[in-house]
Amino acid sequence: MAFHATVLTLYPEMFPGPLGISLAGRALERGDVRLETRQIRDFGRGRHRAVDDTPSGGGAGMVLRADVLAEAIDAASPAADTRPRLLMSPRGRPLTQGFVRQLAAGPGAVILCGRFEGVDERVIEGRNLTEVSIGDYVLSGGEIAALVLLDAVIRLLPGVMGNTLSGETESFEEGLLEHPHYTRPAEWEGQRIPDVLASGDHGAVERWRRAEAERITRERRPDLLAAKGSGD
Ligand code: SAH
Repeated sequence: MAFHATVLTLYPEMFPGPLGISLAGRALERGDVRLETRQIRDFGRGRHRAVDDTPSGGGAGMVLRADVLAEAIDAASPAADTRPRLLMSPRGRPLTQGFVRQLAAGPGAVILCGRFEGVDERVIEGRNLTEVSIGDYVLSGGEIAALVLLDAVIRLLPGVMGNTLSGETESFEEGLLEHPHYTRPAEWEGQRIPDVLASGDHGAVERWRRAEAERITRERRPDLLAAKGSGD
């Protein structure tokens, strides 16, 4: 069964966007991934199909209405749908490689993209939405965040990456950042490729890569090593 993603958005023209090319584009073409969009405005209110209103209690900006969003979600994902329902949100659980892997192993996802100040809090609980953040910064909408999430998921789906091994040794898969890479020419601007990589000794290459991965992780992301130690 193909991974089935349904994206609820005010800007469906942003999809598939960059997912239409390269690995993800081919996966979409082959049908390994089904990506559909739903226009939230189709469920808007009144002649102008309003989807938002002013924040209760005052303040700047607009808030997406709970009733409009709930109808859009219900139309895209009936109660029997087992796919997780995600809301892209800077308040959400951080998107990690572990969560990406979990999603890729499942049937798909229903992804709601916020805009403006965000969404009415009541629909988050009312429709059991899991908030997911792609990082500690604020985007103008959830669409680019959804594209990031989908890109990360799609490349893990069976058959999408030619060399499946490369998916298992790269950054985060073992709680480490990846070791450095080199390719020809053997010398460039006076810099040589480390000798061990030309030694033909696979064991030595493996040990060197592991040590480099640990060194780089220690230098740049000690938090990853701490999380590893704690069994996370
Ligand atoms: N007022 C909100 C920000 C709204 S940004 C706050 O301070 O938390 C508008 C929309 O962009 C959000 O509803 C969300 O869907 C999306 N978005 C912004 N930053 C994001 C992030 N880091 N990760 C995921 N989605 C994000």
